[in-house]
Amino acid sequence: MPAPGSASPRAIALVTAGLGTCALLAVLAGVVFPQAPRDGYASGLQASGAAGGAGSPSLPSDTALRVTFLDVGQGDAVLLQAPEGQTALVDAGRYDVVPLLREMGVERIDLLVATHPHADHIGGMAHVIESMPVRSYMDNGDPHATATYRRLLAALDARPEITYLEALPRTISLGSVEIEVLPLLRRGTTDHNNRSVTLVVRYGTFTAFLSGDSEIRQLTDLVGRGVVPRMTLLKAPHHGSDNGFTPAFLRAGRPEVVVISVGRNGYGHPRPAALSAYAEIGARVLRTDMDGHVGIQGYRDGGYGVVRGQQVALPGTESTDDRDRIRVREAVAGRAVGGGGVPAAAAAAARVRVSVHADAPGDDHRNLNGEYAVLQNQGDRGLAIGGWTLCDGANHCFRFPARAVLATGGTVVVYTGSGRPDSERYYMGMGRAVWNNSGDTATLRDGTGATVAVFRY
Ligand SMILES: [Zn+2]
Ligand SMILES: [Zn+2]
Repeated sequence: MPAPGSASPRAIALVTAGLGTCALLAVLAGVVFPQAPRDGYASGLQASGAAGGAGSPSLPSDTALRVTFLDVGQGDAVLLQAPEGQTALVDAGRYDVVPLLREMGVERIDLLVATHPHADHIGGMAHVIESMPVRSYMDNGDPHATATYRRLLAALDARPEITYLEALPRTISLGSVEIEVLPLLRRGTTDHNNRSVTLVVRYGTFTAFLSGDSEIRQLTDLVGRGVVPRMTLLKAPHHGSDNGFTPAFLRAGRPEVVVISVGRNGYGHPRPAALSAYAEIGARVLRTDMDGHVGIQGYRDGGYGVVRGQQVALPGTESTDDRDRIRVREAVAGRAVGGGGVPAAAAAAARVRVSVHADAPGDDHRNLNGEYAVLQNQGDRGLAIGGWTLCDGANHCFRFPARAVLATGGTVVVYTGSGRPDSERYYMGMGRAVWNNSGDTATLRDGTGATVAVFRY
């Protein structure tokens, strides 16, 4: 990882020209409410909603900051798009968000922020770094002892051209949008959630407050420092947990709209206490688990519009992740955008065969590379399998690196343990056996989450 503080904590301008981003509007079908007044939100909604309408091509989007809460299941991924086209991505969900970003016409990220190193925030980040140009990367400098975090560091190490920014108090310009980084609690004095990188995003008088999984301790500290501004938009801290708000914080911020980035989970997020606290201050609440992707267009005068994605059809996955007890919702992002069928997957489905060699010689947990899965391409065309995943029945997954290819007639082997990968051998890097000797399911999915092949034994 680059040295913390290797860029000075002063204002940094990110001034690349962005690509056209109207694709977002095509993706986010829904109701549009431009220029809702700062007071009387409910009535403003109805009045302007009629004028907007689903998929209206005449949105003044080039004069708006767009804040999109991607529906990534239980986790966070928030895309900021400046009126001038620059992009920032704050967290990247647990799984792959690259297909979704591409569908939205995002080809580069000017500022990538990891709020804190939990997997539901950084799981998809390495693949973003491997898949598109990233100018700057910011985190709180706290290490974490997980494979997900190590993978992120490895991806950063492979891209020395990315400027590292430690999350010190500073202001970053993203086109005409200003991003203020708020001070953190001192390292070593608290847990990961309470050291979430917290950003105040300003475009004119429109103000958004983004904080990963901040809990009472951090929110109280920020209120005490007097750095919590009056805000238009709040990303509910910690997925709407009951430790993700305090009355003093909500009194200081008085958000008009609160977006909860949440999926199926075992924590009870969002909690009733948080929902009623948001209701009490009169905030409009939107949720990615119910509204799909939630897009907020912020205008200079403090007005805003809401664009809601279609609710995502859930694949019937019932697996649980051992470590986090989170019910897994697979690759929702890709499905949401594709709106159903994914031709690439369908075409590949007939051609790829998966098999699993579960019973390693000796002790499976010691001889990790004695168990492996094999993918065989029986078709007459090579397949780019970068971003594809291979998962067992308990949802232990391997993601193929960006440039992975399954040649015509060729095979690739995915070993459970560690090793040096080449074009035909990959390693899951697991510390224990994955494939159940008494029966399991191997599921191969493409980069959008569509199932390509299933092998049951
Ligand atoms: Zn989280
Ligand atoms: Zn967390």
